[in-house]
Amino acid sequence: MAGQLASAGYRMVDGPDGADFVLINTCAFIAAAQKESEQVIAEMLRLKTRRRLGGIIVAGCLPQRDGAGLLERFPQIDRVLGVFARNRIVEAADSLLGRRDNEQLSFCESGGPLPDDGLRLRVTPPHVAYLRIAEGCDRTCSFCTIPAIRGPYRSKPVDKVIIEAQRLIDSGAKELVIVAQDTSYYGVDIYGKPLLADLLARLDALSGLAWLRLMYLYPTHVNQDLIAAVAGLPKVLPYLDLPLQHIDDAVLRRMRRAVTRQQIEKLLDQVRESIPGLALRTTFIVGFPGETKQQFNALSNFVRAARFERLGVFCYSDEPGTRAAALEGKLPPQTILRRRQQLMAVQQQAAFAFSRSQIGKRLEVIIDAALPEAEDAYVGRTWADAPEIDAAAYVTGRGLQVGQIVKAEIVAARGYDLIAVAGQVLGDDNRDKPTDGQPMEASS
Ligand code: SF4
Repeated sequence: MAGQLASAGYRMVDGPDGADFVLINTCAFIAAAQKESEQVIAEMLRLKTRRRLGGIIVAGCLPQRDGAGLLERFPQIDRVLGVFARNRIVEAADSLLGRRDNEQLSFCESGGPLPDDGLRLRVTPPHVAYLRIAEGCDRTCSFCTIPAIRGPYRSKPVDKVIIEAQRLIDSGAKELVIVAQDTSYYGVDIYGKPLLADLLARLDALSGLAWLRLMYLYPTHVNQDLIAAVAGLPKVLPYLDLPLQHIDDAVLRRMRRAVTRQQIEKLLDQVRESIPGLALRTTFIVGFPGETKQQFNALSNFVRAARFERLGVFCYSDEPGTRAAALEGKLPPQTILRRRQQLMAVQQQAAFAFSRSQIGKRLEVIIDAALPEAEDAYVGRTWADAPEIDAAAYVTGRGLQVGQIVKAEIVAARGYDLIAVAGQVLGDDNRDKPTDGQPMEASS
């Protein structure tokens, strides 16, 4: 939407104060995300009432799910666009500014043609870009509203993804983060088989790109081809985000996850064995309806043994229209919160030990930003850290530039984060596949 507005002549400004309009792109995945979206809407409406803001357009999952209901709750919203009406953003903005007529509400069917995301105006730092390879989801996880909001799974054709990736690289992207609701299912709908491994091979061949990172892999389609691609392709980071949600078979069944504990354990053994230096990220839901103390303890023991490098824990919340919301056995919120804290405490030991184990290694670090409060100090990330959700590596070094990939010596660990001293700056010609690093040699 930002790209379409920019190509129609709109200019993004630093903040809402004094703007012609704000565009609020919302999330409605879980209750906490909806609350955050509504807080921003309320805040912008206050600005509008004080005449410091021209108008408000709300887009994304919240209007897609709630439709006109959103306008009943917030009647002063000027325009509402569903997820698949995002190609109408310029129409909505023009009409708001009196340049043409337009309905207040714009929606398209979730099964219609996929909107073209070729025009991009990136709000991430230039060296990092998200590359969406599909929309929607064909799974039926009982806690999840996404299939109802975003419709069935639809892959972007390979050639379209490659064109989009090339444009992102041309505009400065060194790291592409591959996203979809379920990346491992890529290709099944249009090519009749999972094709993520082939797509990765095509992306890996693009020059100017340094890192490819895979998010949101549903465990059942992580096959040998994909594991081999992650292990073998030079630019694909040995990093997998594999949301598992639970480990107890009875809970997994009630969650309608098409996978068992035995299959999960087998897959984890396979990926650990086949992908050198793998950093594994996962997420779990605690407090699912009917989750007993024993089932939670089984999850906790599993997390202790699996030693995930990165892990997130969500508190279960009832989401409108889901099967889980109708299940018996809801747990009190304080029990759910306590279980989350307990599981994070278990994980913290593994994550902190992982950080300490990096001390003395030379790792590639991508520089994300300069630290304003210190000279020659920067914040970046290693292969084990996805932007915005994982840990950081704080690097000192003379004259480093944002977006560079440097080889840095890890000299200390602070909880989840690393402290490093930069050595060599790496270009395309002197980089190897990023791994968990080598022991430190004599400093250059
Ligand atoms: S695979 Fe992910 S997006 Fe799809 S239904 Fe399950 S949790 Fe939701």
